[in-house]
Amino acid sequence: MKFVDEFREPEVITKVAEEIRRLADPNRHYRIMEVCGGHTHAIYRFGLKDVLPANIELIHGPGCPVCVLPMGRIDDGLALAQQPDVIFAAFGDMMRVPGTCGSPLEHKARGMDVRIVYSPSDALTLAQANPDKHVMFFAIGFETTAPSTALTLMRAKSQGIHNFSVFCNHVTIIPAIRAILDSPDMRLDGFIGPGHVSTVIGCRPYEWIAKNEHKPVAVSGFEPLDILQGIVMVLRQLKAGEAAIENQYRRVVPWEGNRAALRAMAEVFQLRPYFEWRGLGFISQSALRIRDEYAEWDSERRFHVPGVRVTDPKAAQCGEVLKGVLKPVQCKLFGKECTPEHPIGALMVSTEGSCAAYFNYEHRKAATVTSIRPVA
Ligand code: SF4
Repeated sequence: MKFVDEFREPEVITKVAEEIRRLADPNRHYRIMEVCGGHTHAIYRFGLKDVLPANIELIHGPGCPVCVLPMGRIDDGLALAQQPDVIFAAFGDMMRVPGTCGSPLEHKARGMDVRIVYSPSDALTLAQANPDKHVMFFAIGFETTAPSTALTLMRAKSQGIHNFSVFCNHVTIIPAIRAILDSPDMRLDGFIGPGHVSTVIGCRPYEWIAKNEHKPVAVSGFEPLDILQGIVMVLRQLKAGEAAIENQYRRVVPWEGNRAALRAMAEVFQLRPYFEWRGLGFISQSALRIRDEYAEWDSERRFHVPGVRVTDPKAAQCGEVLKGVLKPVQCKLFGKECTPEHPIGALMVSTEGSCAAYFNYEHRKAATVTSIRPVA
């Protein structure tokens, strides 16, 4: 398949892995953060850690939108959906994310009208098909998905569809990276920059990371060779004592971003003064709210939001894993109380969550290898 097979070519992967070994100083330990949950998934799925030298440590970043949402926001969304004649619509990966009183799917089992949609536009179509109901779309995601929510709200307004609103949980990636760099317990050498988000925002918003923090960033794609080439770019810069933003994913990411998508976002959204992130706490100007011109389609203004703050279960270490301070397996609940079948934290639910990725690929692989070892 074009743009897939050539990025999985074993011979080329071997050569790039050799290049990584050549570039890495054996006397140095490298900590490189892959910001995006899609990268974390690919790293485990393709076993990329196995081709890297031991002194290159990949740190999982906060780029899984389902994972960074605090439990209180899920509770708030579900509380709004308990109003009479409200349909709760969300993407499939939200359905099993636990709130205090259960996930959206569990609420559905108790009788709430919960629907999976594949896009905000599907939710709007649902509203048109159910004029006697109100459809509330639970919107999540970084700048990757925010433009489609914006376009849907513009459509709802222009077509005068009034039984539809958006519970907006869109977040922005740059303040989260800033919060991580400001964190005293975090030491990083460079970043594999998020490929999906960058298709919208471009590469320019990362320039301060190189200029002020002197850390290299390689915005990278999601195939094995993309990620390995991104690591090569970061290592080359570190070896040369340089820090710059490089675009490995040029076949998809325009340096200046997608102007039409950015325009749609600017038309519909403005920055919130602050927003709570799971594990990172409140970060200023890190999320989007719906502008006054679209207030009629803003669930938070149409309904009363309880705004309850909820902390994660005490033993759950989702916050530390999200910040990259702990590896998934270092959480006491990993693989015991918390599994993909019975998730306690959102990181075990989403395919982009590091705990789910680690469990589905590394943990199972280790279990299989152990189980086929001859008994002494
Ligand atoms: S194993 Fe479960 S509880 Fe622990 S960090 Fe991962 S998702 Fe959170």
